[in-house]
Amino acid sequence: MSITLCLPDDDRSCFACCPPIRPAGYDHLDWETSLRRLLVDNTERFQTSGPRQEIITGYFCWALGFLDRAGKRIGCLLHPAQNQGRALRHLTGYGDKCRRESCPQTKVFTGLTAEQRTCLMGLADGLDSFEYSSPKKNLMWAGLSWGSVVMAALTELEQGRPIAPARLREFCPVLTRPDPDGRSYVLGRLIRGRGPRVLIDPDLPARLEALVDRIKARAARVIDSPLPGGTPAHALPFPPALARFINRGLGRARVTGDQGHQFQEMIHREVDRR
Ligand code: SF4
Ligand code: SF4
Repeated sequence: MSITLCLPDDDRSCFACCPPIRPAGYDHLDWETSLRRLLVDNTERFQTSGPRQEIITGYFCWALGFLDRAGKRIGCLLHPAQNQGRALRHLTGYGDKCRRESCPQTKVFTGLTAEQRTCLMGLADGLDSFEYSSPKKNLMWAGLSWGSVVMAALTELEQGRPIAPARLREFCPVLTRPDPDGRSYVLGRLIRGRGPRVLIDPDLPARLEALVDRIKARAARVIDSPLPGGTPAHALPFPPALARFINRGLGRARVTGDQGHQFQEMIHREVDRR
């Protein structure tokens, strides 16, 4: 069976998106000591008294606990998988939100092959559930934010072997930080044209920034700003990274479909220029 990002193996699990309302930048790892105590309490109370109706009010959920006796995997005690298929998450008041909750990284990871997933899992080797769930500690979170084209290229370069964090830091430091403003779209296009080895070009960070600056300058010249009409780019049928780049990279909050296509063609022309 293929590895999933939420539950990769018997030694750890991800609980980064529990509960589904968290402040920006929140990281469970920052609160590990106190959270571990709460998780022990939650698990014991659940085991002795069973599920109860209690609405979540803060940034912690009473239904989050240890899923195994060894206390390695952390997750939802109300999940159907823990309760003979019964749906119980509504007891916290966040049932629908919990069912819908996913992360962009999961979508990218799910689209990769089993071999590519195993290769990326090297970045999380040896991490426990707190570290695994931490965007700061687990380099896979930053890597996956660069999208499937970039991640597939990375695994191709590594010929499917698990990648150690130190190796990524050394040969492709750009991917150790989350993709800012949809640059993954530009980098993905670069990879399509020139192959995965662009990732190990020591000048990649500077080249990528220069390219983005060129695209921004071109966007300012060729397409009117502010744009008349339109909708948020993410609501149009564009790749998510392109929508993010149009919105945050190029600063266009709303575009029409035609304007979006104009941006896309202009980006392709600029990246493909030799
Ligand atoms: S009910 Fe379960 S899935 Fe929802 S926030 Fe609580 S622990 Fe997470
Ligand atoms: S943050 Fe993503 S990987 Fe982690 S539990 Fe939620 S959906 Fe799964």
